[in-house]
Amino acid sequence: MSFADLGLSEKVLQAVAAAGYSEPTPIQHQAIPHVLARRDVLGIAQTGTGKTAAFVLPMLTLLETGRARARMPRTLILEPTRELAAQVVENFEKYGINHNLSVALLIGGVSFADQDAKITRGVDVLIATPGRLLDHFERGKLLLTGVELLVIDEADRMLDMGFIPDIERIAKLTPFTRQTLFFSATMPPEIERLSESFLHNPVRTEVAPPSSTASTITQRLFATGAESHQKRERLRDLIRSAADFKNAIIFCNRKREVGILHKSLQRHGFSAAALHGDLDQRARMAALDSFRSGEIPLLVASDVAARGLDIPAVSHVFNYDVPHHAEDYVHRIGRTGRAGRTGHAFTLVAPGDERSLAAIETLIGQPVTWEGPDLSSLPEPSERPRSSRGRGERASSSRSGRDDRGRRGREREDRPAKALPKPREPREEKTLAAEPARRRAQPRPERDSRPDRDSDGTGVVGLGDHVPAFLARAPRPRSGR
Ligand code: AMP
Repeated sequence: MSFADLGLSEKVLQAVAAAGYSEPTPIQHQAIPHVLARRDVLGIAQTGTGKTAAFVLPMLTLLETGRARARMPRTLILEPTRELAAQVVENFEKYGINHNLSVALLIGGVSFADQDAKITRGVDVLIATPGRLLDHFERGKLLLTGVELLVIDEADRMLDMGFIPDIERIAKLTPFTRQTLFFSATMPPEIERLSESFLHNPVRTEVAPPSSTASTITQRLFATGAESHQKRERLRDLIRSAADFKNAIIFCNRKREVGILHKSLQRHGFSAAALHGDLDQRARMAALDSFRSGEIPLLVASDVAARGLDIPAVSHVFNYDVPHHAEDYVHRIGRTGRAGRTGHAFTLVAPGDERSLAAIETLIGQPVTWEGPDLSSLPEPSERPRSSRGRGERASSSRSGRDDRGRRGREREDRPAKALPKPREPREEKTLAAEPARRRAQPRPERDSRPDRDSDGTGVVGLGDHVPAFLARAPRPRSGR
């Protein structure tokens, strides 16, 4: 089947040809005719499957008739993170080159005024993260009663991030008669229920079950001591010795660990960027751009920030931490080995990670091969060498070494052989140093545990755009939600 058979307009077909696509991917093939027929669609698909074009291409076709009105967007796309939202905008730019549509991006970290000005002129497509969208709505600057088509993308990630109440509220602000497209990589029961409440008689399409990992990816496990410095050292060795290395995404379970590891790698002379939910928008985009362009070969990232990023050719994924949620493993390693390319997914496994590892192996339906000795070969805790700490510093009680706050920058083993320019200390680490022990002890990983609402700029109401970071993190008032 070709794109021409799907019912897309001539303008869209020309743009698709210009993009160099010869045939639709399975999700495009399955979903596009139904979207064009104005049916609701429930799409179960991961990023990397061509999911974005599966809704952008028919939307462009549908939007060729009609006109945008002031403050009343015609279509609305909700994304869990700023990066995903920005990526959808890029898709509209790429496939909409023959259209003269107005597209607005409502995400945190950028000026309200510019966004307001755009909405006021009238937009055909509004792409937003939930927090910033509701902020605009609450300021009375936005009406959702003209929304003909609503896209809820990455619904399972919205659930993880605590956005579901916001999504429900937003959906109620749009007309009941709207068309709804609902995409999720996984369908846990909560998402199933949600889809039932949002969709009317939907067409269900499903591609690549979420538990499958591409056969083009070489997966390996590497045993490591649980202390942070041991894990960092192991990681550096793996990066240095990796065959076919081009670039890598290094995943950590917690935002704080992303910051620490990023600084550590830089101190050791590696060229690395960091991506997590506490960084401001400009820093996140800069990190992503420098990684995409190949200028920086290492991207240290949290799950939420990296989810769904379209980075076509990543040679390696390193799991610095074993993810505590097995699906995250599938998402993480899906960043490599895309579109038939070969890829490598290397996971550091420390004592204490056994249960998470077992859950991953159950989900993917196969054991992952150890490279070198497994955990049983590690010395017992009492035999393990003591890490080099200064006097008076307490030993870490955390197996993953998460209690090393206060030792930042003082770890001998983390000093570079030669002096390198000292990277500026990310602001987040100061505040996170005060993180209560109770939270640290929680078995559940952070997964950017505080929903990324701050990243939607929800704390900036009334203060313009120059808000100190600690204020920007304050929760939005929840009245009426
Ligand atoms: P997505 O799943 O939307 O993140 O898309 C993953 C990648 O597939 C992006 O780089 C798209 O540009 C690319 N892509 C989308 N549709 C097609 C297609 N029909 N043929 C080849 N590549 C595609």
